[in-house]
Amino acid sequence: MTVSVIGPDGRTDLRASYLVGCDGGRSTVRTLAGFPLDGHEPTITGRLGDVAVPELLENPGAGWHRLDGGVIQVTPLRVLTVEFDSPPTDRADRDQPMTKAELAASLARVVGRPVDIPAEPQWVSRFTDNTRLVDTYRRGRVLLAGDAAHIHSPFGGQGLNLGLQDAMNLGWKLAATLQGWAGDEVLDTYTAERRPVAAGVLHNTRAQVALMNPSPQVTPLRELFTEMMDIPEVNQFLGAMITALDVRYDCGEFLPPAKVRTPDGTVAARELLHSGRPVLLDLSPDSTFAHAAARWGDWVHIITGESDEIGSVLVRPDGYVCWEDTSPDDLTITLRTWFGG
Ligand SMILES: Cc1cc2nc3c(=O)[nH]c(=O)nc-3n(C[C@H](O)[C@H](O)[C@H](O)COP(=O)(O)OP(=O)(O)OC[C@H]3O[C@@H](n4cnc5c(N)ncnc54)[C@H](O)[C@@H]3O)c2cc1C
Repeated sequence: MTVSVIGPDGRTDLRASYLVGCDGGRSTVRTLAGFPLDGHEPTITGRLGDVAVPELLENPGAGWHRLDGGVIQVTPLRVLTVEFDSPPTDRADRDQPMTKAELAASLARVVGRPVDIPAEPQWVSRFTDNTRLVDTYRRGRVLLAGDAAHIHSPFGGQGLNLGLQDAMNLGWKLAATLQGWAGDEVLDTYTAERRPVAAGVLHNTRAQVALMNPSPQVTPLRELFTEMMDIPEVNQFLGAMITALDVRYDCGEFLPPAKVRTPDGTVAARELLHSGRPVLLDLSPDSTFAHAAARWGDWVHIITGESDEIGSVLVRPDGYVCWEDTSPDDLTITLRTWFGG
């Protein structure tokens, strides 16, 4: 395909086998390639400024506060407000640069008194809870990753992790396709694996917005939720969700932490992924699996060793285990599925 780009030196045409749009929430690649983007209209406006506001550090104090007028976060170098009455109404408003005066007005509405911002903020910005997800991450030779594929409010700080994991999932599949190890069906697993993870983040960020709403009707729900978070299993569930440690694909879970004794010494199993290649870790006493996988040896990194903590595993370059210690026949089927041959 040919892609036209306009840079400092004018227009250039680039030829490539694939194009990956990593151009953020307002992705031009997504729009030009015609990816449908469905979801929910925004309901809130968040504003933030990198500036010290000493009177807010005094009252209401550092941290997050849910007040009658909205939510405020105060830190020594940043203030952030969230107002729940409406999003920035029209496109013209959204595209207007954010100002110190707009931040001061929002602070006053949220805390219920005029607030003096003593210096020009180093950075100001707005955000909303606009929530959108593309229906597929791939249209032919065009793929999307990061905010280009999914848009949601920033609560829980999940967007960067979500986008990086898209890139980890896609990178090796694209390389495998280009190098001929894998066919189209491996590239199609990108949408199948990553879209449900993004849908989960969109869902939990909307739930967070609902729980932050200052309406008195939400207060009992928050109190109930707070009590539930004291239950260790609930706490663990929510922690795993926000950190994405709960991500599992149909093929398996992320390689667990374990020590492995190899001919080159004892190492953490995850360090064996540093080559960026698939790894077969054969911990059988007679290297059965290494023999079965020998013909994939040009691209699969085959390592023999011993471990008291895990069994033999085949690990994809993104760290997910796609085969675990069954039979050599199962292993070769899995190798063929993911790495061709
Ligand atoms: C207020 C706020 C707080 C946040 N806090 C967190 C947090 O604590 N933790 C977290 O994980 N996430 C957080 N996020 C979300 C996180 O910032 C995003 O999810 C992440 O930056 C997305 O990365 P990306 O590379 O997909 O897109 P972007 O970071 O948007 O990068 C896209 C890049 O493409 C460039 N680009 C776009 N169009 C073009 C074009 N036509 N030509 C050339 N270049 C182009 C842009 O200039 C930009 O550099 C926050 C977001 C907001 C708004």
